[in-house]
Amino acid sequence: MINLILFGPPGSGKGTQASKLVDKYSFLHISTGDLFRTEIGNNTPLGLEAKSYMDKGQLVPDSVTIGMLRNKVEANPDVKGYIFDGFPRTIPQCEALDELLAGRNDEISMLLMLDVPDDEIVSRLLNRGKTSGRADDLNEEVIRNRIAVYEEQTSPVFDYYAAKGRAKKINGLGSIDDIFERLSKEVDSLEK
Ligand code: AMP
Repeated sequence: MINLILFGPPGSGKGTQASKLVDKYSFLHISTGDLFRTEIGNNTPLGLEAKSYMDKGQLVPDSVTIGMLRNKVEANPDVKGYIFDGFPRTIPQCEALDELLAGRNDEISMLLMLDVPDDEIVSRLLNRGKTSGRADDLNEEVIRNRIAVYEEQTSPVFDYYAAKGRAKKINGLGSIDDIFERLSKEVDSLEK
């Protein structure tokens, strides 16, 4: 089984690339951001709690996020592999994910980071806000906060997997197809 973490700052193209990887390799895409947005859409207590953090560009607490992720993985055991998008975002989330997979004699194959400079990210997110319908894409202050949270709390996730020799940076600039080709090459090399 190949289990990927698609990593990178908000607006680096994780969601776009994840859906193309799913089409090509038939992995199960798990985006914690999408799961939270579904909960919000369904007006669940979990959604209401998550919304109060998301609207400010803060992380939803680990206990909530990890529980939701675990349920999603456990509900889908028979898949070719997982693509985790937007998870893990903290070291406790890394540890919980590793433990969850180890319990099934499995592990993260590779973390692939889409490397995109800050300025490009702010303009991409503001642009996305015009059509995404996401409240957290509309306000520049919230966007800047999401980037700060990424740098402070989430970037250590790269080092966590790098220490295991399981993290690579991929140039996240260029056309969607160019970036997809770079990612596909990495996945193909894992399949061999
Ligand atoms: P995303 O769609 O990945 O950009 O996530 C949108 C928002 O959902 C984030 O800004 C966080 O508030 C929340 N979120 C998504 N994934 C996580 C996670 N792994 N840990 C904590 N909060 C998360």
